[in-house]
Amino acid sequence: MTDALRLLVIEDNDALRASLGELLTGAGHVVSLVADGRAGLQHALTDPPDVVVLDLGLPGLDGVRVCQALRERADRHIPILMLTARDTLDDKLRGFDVGADDYLVKPFANEELLARCLALSRRHRAGASHVQRIGTLEIDRRSGQVRRAGRVLDLRQTALRILLILADAWPRPVTRSELIRRLWGDDPPESDPLRTHLYLLRQALDKPFDAPMLVTIHEVGFRLEADV
Ligand code: CA
Repeated sequence: MTDALRLLVIEDNDALRASLGELLTGAGHVVSLVADGRAGLQHALTDPPDVVVLDLGLPGLDGVRVCQALRERADRHIPILMLTARDTLDDKLRGFDVGADDYLVKPFANEELLARCLALSRRHRAGASHVQRIGTLEIDRRSGQVRRAGRVLDLRQTALRILLILADAWPRPVTRSELIRRLWGDDPPESDPLRTHLYLLRQALDKPFDAPMLVTIHEVGFRLEADV
């Protein structure tokens, strides 16, 4: 059994909100359901949940604005799982800029949503802050800044997203297909941009240092290895 989480769902689609409520309550969590951004923000500020499941497209105050306001006004880091209607890179980048911790593209599998909520709350509880440390690597999820051995790494958006996915899973490996799905949903680009982004990530994360942290596991995928 896992611990029950306190979850806040901010979703304006009545059917989806109701089904999320059923799903999450059915899994043993305590769920608050809110249909609009302004009320959701207020709820999150006055009674901070373990995880906010936040729809991007909301009337009035949209998901990006809610996310921004929550980051500015909450006295601690509240993990946010952003739901996006389409898997557009723009939405992801915009969402990341304002501090969403993770994304899920609609339509999504119920198990996936549950797994992401658990992962977010675990990470948050384990770290008790928005900074995750793996060896000398420090990932600040609020600012998006990453340091290794005290040195700030210059990471482009997609390379940073890959690093965050690997850090979420750490110390487990992430398969190539999971990486692609998490980056591009069900509509991956036809070329093989993952190779390019992994190369860029390695250039920033590993090249200046002695030991590589991004490790390829043959026929499995990729994982981070602590350097100390
Ligand atoms: Ca919506």
